Amino acid sequence: MKSSAYLMKPIPFDNSYVKLGPTFYARLHPEPVAAPRMIHFNRELASALGMEADSLDSPMGADIFAGSQVPEGAQPLAMAYAGHQFGGFSPQLGDGRAILLGEVVAPTGERYDIQLKGSGPTPFSRNGDGRAAMGPVLREYLLSEAMHALGVPTTRALAAVATGESVIRDSLVPGAVITRVATSFVRVGTFEYFSAQGNVDAVKQLADYVIARNYPDVAAAENPCEALLAQVIERQAALIARWMQLGFIHGVMNTDNMSIAGETIDYGPCAFMDGFDHHQVYSSIDRQGRYAYANQPPIAQWNLIRFAETLLPLLMRGEDTRAAVATAERLLNGFIEHYQHHWLSGMRQKLGLAQKRDADRALAEGFLDLLATENVDFTSAFRALSLLANAPSDQDHVLTALFAQPQAINAWLENWRQRLAEETDDAATRQQKMQLANPIYIPRNHLVEAVIRAAEDEGDFEPFHRLHSVLQQPFEEQPGMGAYSQPPRPEQVVHQTFCGT
Ligand code: AMP
Ligand code: MG
Repeated sequence: MKSSAYLMKPIPFDNSYVKLGPTFYARLHPEPVAAPRMIHFNRELASALGMEADSLDSPMGADIFAGSQVPEGAQPLAMAYAGHQFGGFSPQLGDGRAILLGEVVAPTGERYDIQLKGSGPTPFSRNGDGRAAMGPVLREYLLSEAMHALGVPTTRALAAVATGESVIRDSLVPGAVITRVATSFVRVGTFEYFSAQGNVDAVKQLADYVIARNYPDVAAAENPCEALLAQVIERQAALIARWMQLGFIHGVMNTDNMSIAGETIDYGPCAFMDGFDHHQVYSSIDRQGRYAYANQPPIAQWNLIRFAETLLPLLMRGEDTRAAVATAERLLNGFIEHYQHHWLSGMRQKLGLAQKRDADRALAEGFLDLLATENVDFTSAFRALSLLANAPSDQDHVLTALFAQPQAINAWLENWRQRLAEETDDAATRQQKMQLANPIYIPRNHLVEAVIRAAEDEGDFEPFHRLHSVLQQPFEEQPGMGAYSQPPRPEQVVHQTFCGT
C-alpha cells in the first residue's frame, strides 16, 4: 500500500461508527489498483461536504477514491450486516465490496458516510472479487444523481474512478470504483445481523446510534425505539411513494438494501419505467417479479416487519411480549396509511390539483390504468398533461397522440378539466407546479445503456458527461436536448437490467 495521502486541506473526517466496536465491522484497507483515473468528480457535493474540490479533482483524488491511498483521518472498515434476499434469510452478508472510509460532518452540521464501492475484497466477500465493473458504476452514478435532482432521498455519488484493471464478469470488462455518500449506510439487514445472533445488546447499541445520528427527535420519547420504528416506517412510506410517482423500480429490495435513514440505496438492476405497466420488472434476477413496480409498497412493508422483529425486545415493557407485538403491528399497519397519504398528495401535484377532493384518487388511478392498457410512456404522458394544463383543448393531441385508441383518454381529460374547474390557481401557476412534479428528463434505460457502451467499449466518456449534465435539471426544458426526453424506439427498448456483481 502507498503511504497516506496528504492534502493541504484534509478531508474533515469525524468517525463515529468505528466507536461502536469490532462486532459491528471489520477494519481493513482498500486494495490499491493499477492505474486510477478520475471519470467524474462531484465538485458541488465535495464542497457541500466541506472538502476542497480543487485538490481532490486531481490524480491525488483519483488515488484516494480508487482506494490506492488512504486519506488522513479515514478509518476504513467493512460493515457487518445480514439480510433477507428474495425472502430467504442470509445471516451474514456485509460489505463484500464496499469500504466505509469514514464520516464527515458537513458545514451544515450533517454527518455523512463516505463509502467506496468496488475497492477490493473484505472478510465479507464470500466468493466475490470485491470489485465493481465500470458499467454498473456509471449506472449508479447517473441514477443516484438523477434521483437527487428529482428531489428523492438517495445516496449521492461523489466520484467515479476507472481502476485501469479488468474484472471478470460474463467477459473481461473494465473495472471502476464509485464513492457514495449517505446520511447512514445502516440497513434493515444491520439490525437483522445482531438480532439473528440473539445479541440484544448490540441491537440496542445500534438503535441508540441510529437515533442519535438520524432521528434525534425521538430520543426524548417515552420509548425511543417505538418512536424510531414509527419514524422509519413513515420515511420509507414517503420514499416508496416518490419512487412510484417517478416510475422508478429499485429491482432488489432485499432487506440489506433498505436504508434505516430512509434513502434510496444500492442501485443495482434498478430502472425508470418507459411504457407503464403495474407489473413491470427489469431485473434479470427477479424471475418471480417479487420486486415488480406495483409490489414495491407491500415489499417495503414486509421489510419493515423484519425490522420491527429485531426491535421487539426493546419494545417490551416488563415481560409482556404480546403488548410489544401489538405495538409493532399497530405501527406497521400505519405504513399503508402513510404510503397512501404520500402517494395521493404526490399524484395531486402531478395532476395539478392543489385542492383535495375525495374522487382524486380514482382520477389518478384512472389515468395510470389508461397508460397501462396501451403501455404508454409514463414520463412523456405526465409531462404532456402538464402542457395541457395551460393550453386550449385543440392541443390535446400532445397527450392523446400517445394512445392508439384515444376515446378513453379523451373521456378522462374531460373529467380532469371538470375537476380543474374546482381549483383556484390560474392555469399558468398550475402548469408551473405540474412541471415541477413531472420531469422531462429521466435516466432512461436506453440512454444509460448507450453511455455505458461508449465508455466500456470505446473509452469514450463524453456521452456519460452529457447525459449526467442533462439529468441535473430534470424539470426544465433544455434547448437542443430533445433526444434525451424521448422514449426508446422499439429497437432501443431495454427489457432487462443486470446487477453486474
Ligand atoms: P447486492 O445484491 O449488490 O446488494 O449485494 C449483496 C451482497 O453480495 C452484499 O453483501 C455484497 O457486498 C455482496 N457482493 C456483491 N457483489 C460482490 C462482489 N463482486 N464481491 C464481493 N461481494 C459482493
Ligand atoms: Mg446491497
